[in-house]
Amino acid sequence: MSISENVTAYLKELAAGNCFGEPVALVAATKTRTAEEINEAIAAGVTDIGENKVQEFRDKYDLVHGGNRHFIGHLQTNKVKYLIGKTYLIHSLDRDELAEELSKRSVRANVTTDVLIEVNVGCELSKSGYSPETAFAAYERLRAVPGIRVRGFMAMLPESDDTALLASLADEMRALYDRAKAQDTNIRWLSMGMSGDWRLCVAHGSNMVRIGTALFGARHYPAPAQP
Ligand SMILES: *Cc1c(COP(=O)(O)O)cnc(C)c1O
Repeated sequence: MSISENVTAYLKELAAGNCFGEPVALVAATKTRTAEEINEAIAAGVTDIGENKVQEFRDKYDLVHGGNRHFIGHLQTNKVKYLIGKTYLIHSLDRDELAEELSKRSVRANVTTDVLIEVNVGCELSKSGYSPETAFAAYERLRAVPGIRVRGFMAMLPESDDTALLASLADEMRALYDRAKAQDTNIRWLSMGMSGDWRLCVAHGSNMVRIGTALFGARHYPAPAQP
C-alpha cells in the first residue's frame, strides 16, 4: 500500500474515536522519512507530524508544507533553543532540568511552549520519563512553571506480548490523565500508542497516537560510514 492509502485507512479507523468516544489525533512519526514522503502523507490528510531528533526537525522544517509540528524524541537541554516557537507540542518533557530550559527560552522569546509530561510507565531502564509514582507531583510542579503549558501526558508502553500487563499500564496512564484533567482545563492529550500497540492504547483511553512504520513502511537507517 502507498503512503496515501495507509493514511486514508488510518484516518478512517481513528475516526471511530477511543473507548470514551473522544476523537483520536494522529501524529505521523516521521523520523528517517524524506520531506517528499511527509508531504505525501500531508496531502493525504495527515495534520500533525512528529520528529524525534532536533537535527531532522530543523533540516525538514521548511521542506515540509503544513502540518502541526510535534517533537516526540528525547530532547537534550542544549538543543532546546532550536525548537522554541516552532513546535505545536513537545511530547517528551522528562525531567525538571529540561522544563527549566524550556521555560527560560520560552519566556525570553515571549512564547508559550505546549508540552506533555513523559511517564516511564513500565519503569524501564532504557526509557526516560518520570516514574509513575512521581508523575502527578511532577505535573503539579511543572504546571506552575512560566513559559510552558502542560497539556497532558505521553507514554511508551514496554515491548511485551502480555496484553493484560499492557492494558493495566495504559489504564494507569489514563487514570493519571483523568486526575489532572479533573482540575485543569489545559489538559487535553494522552499521547500513547505506536504502530504495534495503538489499538490497545486507544481501547484504554489514549486520544493521540504516534504512528510511523504503519504509515510509511519499515525504516531504513543508513549504514554507518566506513572509516
Ligand atoms: C518512532 C516513534 C514512534 C513511531 O513508531 P512506529 O513503531 O514506527 O510506529 C512513536 N513514538 C516515538 C517517540 C518514536 O520515536
